[in-house]
Amino acid sequence: MQELTHYIGGQHVKGKSGRFADVMNPATGEVQAKVPLASNDEMAEAVAVAAKAQVGWAATNPQKRARVLMKFVELLHRDMDKLAEALSREHGKTIPDAKGDVIRGLEVAEFCFGAPHLLKGEFTEGAGPGIDMYSLRQPLGVVAGITPFNFPAMIPMWKFCPAIAAGNAFILKPSERDPSVPLMLAELMSEAGAPDGILNVVNGDKDAVDAILDHPEIMAIGFVGSTPIAQYIYARGCANGKRVQCFGGAKNHMIIMPDADMDQAVDALIGAGYGAAGERCMAISVAVPVGEKTADLLIEKLAPRVEALKIGPYTGGDDVDFGPLVTKQARDRVLGLVNSGVEQGAKLVVDGRDFKLQGYENGNFIGGCLFDNVTRDMDIYTQEIFGPVLSVVRAPNYAEALRYPMEHEYGNGTAIYTRDGDTARDFVSRINIGMVGVNVPIPVPLAYHTFGGWKKSGFGDLNQHGPDAFRFYTRTKTVTARWPSGIKEGAEFVIPTMG
Ligand code: NAD
Repeated sequence: MQELTHYIGGQHVKGKSGRFADVMNPATGEVQAKVPLASNDEMAEAVAVAAKAQVGWAATNPQKRARVLMKFVELLHRDMDKLAEALSREHGKTIPDAKGDVIRGLEVAEFCFGAPHLLKGEFTEGAGPGIDMYSLRQPLGVVAGITPFNFPAMIPMWKFCPAIAAGNAFILKPSERDPSVPLMLAELMSEAGAPDGILNVVNGDKDAVDAILDHPEIMAIGFVGSTPIAQYIYARGCANGKRVQCFGGAKNHMIIMPDADMDQAVDALIGAGYGAAGERCMAISVAVPVGEKTADLLIEKLAPRVEALKIGPYTGGDDVDFGPLVTKQARDRVLGLVNSGVEQGAKLVVDGRDFKLQGYENGNFIGGCLFDNVTRDMDIYTQEIFGPVLSVVRAPNYAEALRYPMEHEYGNGTAIYTRDGDTARDFVSRINIGMVGVNVPIPVPLAYHTFGGWKKSGFGDLNQHGPDAFRFYTRTKTVTARWPSGIKEGAEFVIPTMG
């Protein structure tokens, strides 16, 4: 049995706590590795190593730091197949989707090539007699990221690339379900030239997270995961005086107007609802067709497409649409919610509950499920399912359809399908959700924009990646300087103003 490690100070370090978690292969149900779960003391050791390394790294000029990221990107391309294979083996997603996971992270690394520009401060010459005023963007010191299982390459990179480019040292606590790729990323960062201790991976569970939350030298925490944990981390991290941003769960609605291109809308729902087995925070889990005719046509076109979905292991070749759920517990939870939908009166148009794959009987597979006539009091509507389950909630008109995502507690992403510019513009303007698509089902912003949800999908001020990431991982210092220093004005007892 492979025993995974931590990665601290540029080397693999064995776990010392004596506690381990099983790392499963979701397609076969077999335990394939053990990952150590760090203690408070192990976390403290990693922070001490990071703090020591950070001083020299912050003094390294930003162009040189950016060059490390350039090399890192080159190495990611070199090792793409290896990374994707390791990712799929622990997560279960298909190989092309795993490559997408790496590439979406790599694109943020590419954005960080612009660190010298992004870190420039502001300057006012002659703010007073002989006085110049300017601001500096300085790194915070040691910062941390706590990341979920569903994007084990992308989300760690969203966190550590900007933080490192900005001159911080980073502690990554990845998901204990798929820790191999984060360890590989740390090795590649060392190979790319990051000094030892600049990127550390400390594996673990709640104990490791609590150690991060309470460590006085960790200045900022970026978290992505489920909403209850996001709220816990936000509250405890803030109470300890840290800068904290937490991104949580989602329930993303897609509104289909009567004038929408229905084939395009159906393609969008198939990809966005069932891709990665629905284990995406930007998955569409609710379709809201407007008007009975639109709804009937949508169901008529969707149902055969959901029935035809190809489900299999990542080794199953190019025609596999999605793989197993990450754990048996995740599968049981999704099945429980599907059962509750049936019991609460929704119509299960396509039932994937009994899906079985020969040779993979112990895998966490579930077939695509499609519900019609879902109402807003049902558990399948109120809760994030995080599985290949799409709920259709029929709306009589646009005004009513708009209310559904607006009144839902989550506010990560949403989309509208229409050919009418007025409706689209109204939707974009009024919706209280962080990321909005117009005829685009998964409106994930590119690396140079920022990513973040509203309401219970995001806690804290700034978003992930884009310019916000550099704001989050730096602090501003504003300097007022008088040169020549000899200008005499006499003592002033009144607060200085511009007169
Ligand atoms: P999770 O909340 O179970 O775990 C996330 C991280 O928190 C992991 O590193 C885990 O070890 C840690 N953790 C788990 N339980 C903890 C506890 N009790 N105390 C302290 N730390 C704990 O989430 P997950 O199942 O890994 O990921 C799926 C969730 O992430 C979904 O809700 C999904 O919507 C969300 N997600 C959100 C975004 C976003 O940007 N909004 C992106 C991806 C995933």
